[in-house]
Amino acid sequence: LLDGQVVDDHQIAVCVRKRPLSRKEINRKEIDVISVPRKNMLMVHEPRNKVDLTKFLENHKFRFDYAFNDTCDNAMVYKYTAKPLVKTIFEGGMATCFAYGQTGSGKTHTMGGEFNGKVQDCKNGIYAMAAKDVFVLLNGPRYRSLNLVVSASFFEIYSGKVFDLLSDKQKLRVLEDGKQQVQVVGLTERVVDGVEEVLKLIQHGNAARTSGQTSANSNSSRSHAVFQIVLRPMGSSKIHGKFSFIDLAGNERGVDTSSADRQTRMEGAEINKSLLALKECIRALGKQSAHLPFRVSKLTQVLRDSFIGEKSKTCMIAMISPGLSSVEHTLNTLRYADRVKEL
Ligand code: ADP
Ligand code: MG
Repeated sequence: LLDGQVVDDHQIAVCVRKRPLSRKEINRKEIDVISVPRKNMLMVHEPRNKVDLTKFLENHKFRFDYAFNDTCDNAMVYKYTAKPLVKTIFEGGMATCFAYGQTGSGKTHTMGGEFNGKVQDCKNGIYAMAAKDVFVLLNGPRYRSLNLVVSASFFEIYSGKVFDLLSDKQKLRVLEDGKQQVQVVGLTERVVDGVEEVLKLIQHGNAARTSGQTSANSNSSRSHAVFQIVLRPMGSSKIHGKFSFIDLAGNERGVDTSSADRQTRMEGAEINKSLLALKECIRALGKQSAHLPFRVSKLTQVLRDSFIGEKSKTCMIAMISPGLSSVEHTLNTLRYADRVKEL
């Protein structure tokens, strides 16, 4: 494959990433049920007999634009997913990159950066690698004469409400005017002159996202995080191009309705609704359709302008956990991703 070939050719690219078994999983003898036989194929080996795991194996085969094995690092994933889309925003288009999957599958690790213990190093995340390339192109010979200004914002959508991650998680309103232009009122948008400034914003937003969380069922797994890089011509408020990176809420529906409280059940329903609407909006990318369910969820509503443009491009990275105990969630994730790319 040539550099960037994966996403370049199509408007929608769908990739899958398998994370390695964790130390904890290895210690409890978790079995790896995923293989990546080719760079565009992934297989799930589901034992039908829980006693003898080698018996009655059911093999599920999935094809994607790229399948990243557990030996791939973030740089490799970035190279074949978001990187080819950076030039889209210089050419006046909209780009989006989604991380989809169950909680614990590696969405935040991929987008926000690798964890060293509890500390997240944002430099090797997709947000930061893309920001770096934005400045490479901004100052390069091809686009320098456009005199574009770069700004960044970072917010979270939790239970259908928007919170600014660059401003003490201030709650923000979303307004839609008569021309269906959507605006997040008061969203912090910082003009940034170089990658170091963006890194600070990402670090700040990442930290804000996880602050106040107590358990594994924390808020951050139930919220969508949206990091955006916006290009505008100098002295103008008109958007030239925008790149949105979305670390989606966990897609597991494993909410035990008997024990979950009302709030938790409502959050789960809201997440399902937004992920279903998202699938429909991505599938219709660039097509002019009045029937798209943008308004069904805050997520699709705020991303509206990224779906409708003719020059819009999207990539989705479906993250999966390799263990047998996650196999149901893994199959759900793969089927969803499959539907996104299906014509
Ligand atoms: P999610 O955001 O999908 O809930 P995380 O990104 O928080 O999942 O990942 C869960 C755990 O797995 C974290 O401790 C993270 O460091 C680890 N992890 C995820 N992906 C990888 C990977 N590709 N390589 C090594 N560790 C990973
Ligand atoms: Mg996460």
